[in-house]
Amino acid sequence: MSFPTRTNAIDFDSARLQRFGFSHAQTPAQPLLDYDQLQRRLALQLQTSLEADKILSMFFHNVSQVISLDALIYKHLGTDLRLEFGERARHNASYRMTYEGEQMGELAFQRDQRFSENELAQLESLLTSLLYPLRNALLYRSASLSALRDPLTGAGNRIAMEQSLTREIEIARRQQQPLSVLMLDIDHFKGINDTHGHATGDEVLRAVADAIKDRLRNIDQVFRFGGEEFLIVLTNTGRESAALVGERLRHAALQLTYPVNGSPVELTVSLGCSTLLPGESTDSLVRRADTALYAAKRQGRNRLEMAG
Ligand code: GH3
Ligand code: MG
Ligand code: MG
Repeated sequence: MSFPTRTNAIDFDSARLQRFGFSHAQTPAQPLLDYDQLQRRLALQLQTSLEADKILSMFFHNVSQVISLDALIYKHLGTDLRLEFGERARHNASYRMTYEGEQMGELAFQRDQRFSENELAQLESLLTSLLYPLRNALLYRSASLSALRDPLTGAGNRIAMEQSLTREIEIARRQQQPLSVLMLDIDHFKGINDTHGHATGDEVLRAVADAIKDRLRNIDQVFRFGGEEFLIVLTNTGRESAALVGERLRHAALQLTYPVNGSPVELTVSLGCSTLLPGESTDSLVRRADTALYAAKRQGRNRLEMAG
């Protein structure tokens, strides 16, 4: 069975003109009883948040009071943001939104009944109230994401690490799940810089970060702890499983090859692993992984050590 789908492109520059009555739309909007009130309410409410999910949720609930809707689905590919409100249904009207050439995501309205031309015209007109609030939310989101990310490797930075560990420890306690961390450090990295230059060193760092990310589950997280050190947070993972993940990462590093001036750069990493103890603090968990890492270094590198 195929469902009727309608996709439109909405450019807010012209959408604004439409709202002020300059358009030549074939079906002029026939306002429902409190349609003007809705527009005013949306204009006020949507400015009260900088979070896309709150803004779209307010939009969905307010619009639903005037035009019957089952679901609102929003996707912004640039920042990997997907939001969904209500229950999906068979009729769909979607809008790809742009503003001054900037992608603002795709929004779909769904319901079981077909949308009338008049309703679609009204929905389109109401979409203009999303313009500035949604744009501000997207800018805010992208600023927050980059403030939490290490620009060289794309891994989380120390601020993100602190936040994540605090949250993960809370969840582990509440749900009585194990939590483990791995501290990974590239062996003799100074030598790579000295021999091949800093730019190659940077590429190696990026490649190691990518290799780590590739071999983890979606729920695991990688943070750049220091220069050539990464901390990996393994959600709901006990000691034995964490050791397996650590070994997998150690092997992945061995398999990485960087041809520099025709000859491959050899690479190994050392790792330390710790598993959360009852009542343990973030600092202590990280410190035990770090101590285990230094034990791995002392014992010859290219190995994993478990914290006692
Ligand atoms: P070990 O096996 O004991 O870990 O030796 P190592 O040489 O890896 O460790 P050391 O701490 O002596 O050196 C780390 C080097 O990492 C020194 C520093 O210049 C380099 N480094 C730190 N951050 C960056 C970076 O962002 N890019 C590059 N290219 N090098 C970096
Ligand atoms: Mg090192
Ligand atoms: Mg180091």
